[in-house]
Amino acid sequence: MSFISGTLSVKCKKCGTVTDFDSDEADFEPTGGGDDRGMGQENGYSWETTFNCDKCGSEIEIDYEVWEYPVGAFNNDDVRLSGATEEGRYSYDFQDEPEPDEFE
Ligand SMILES: [Zn+2]
Repeated sequence: MSFISGTLSVKCKKCGTVTDFDSDEADFEPTGGGDDRGMGQENGYSWETTFNCDKCGSEIEIDYEVWEYPVGAFNNDDVRLSGATEEGRYSYDFQDEPEPDEFE
C-alpha cells in the first residue's frame, strides 16, 4: 500500500527503546468495503505485526487500522499497541488521481 508515508515509532514500555518502522515495512491489507455512508464506500486497511524489542526482547504488538472515507480522503486511524507506547505514526495520502499534465 502506498498511501502511507513517514515513520511509525513505538517505544518499549519495559526499557524505553524506540523502534521505527518505515512506510515500506508496513503491510496494510484492505479489510473489505465498509458501509456506504452516503458519500460512497468506506474502505478500511489494517496491519498487524508482532516483534521483539531489540534491547530487552520484550514482545510488542502493533494493530494499526486506517479508514478512507470518502474514497480519496483520510477519515480516521487507530493504533493499538501492546507492550509499547506510540511516539509517532504515519501520515496518509489517499489521493489517487493521475498526475496533472503540465504540458497540455
Ligand atoms: Zn525493550
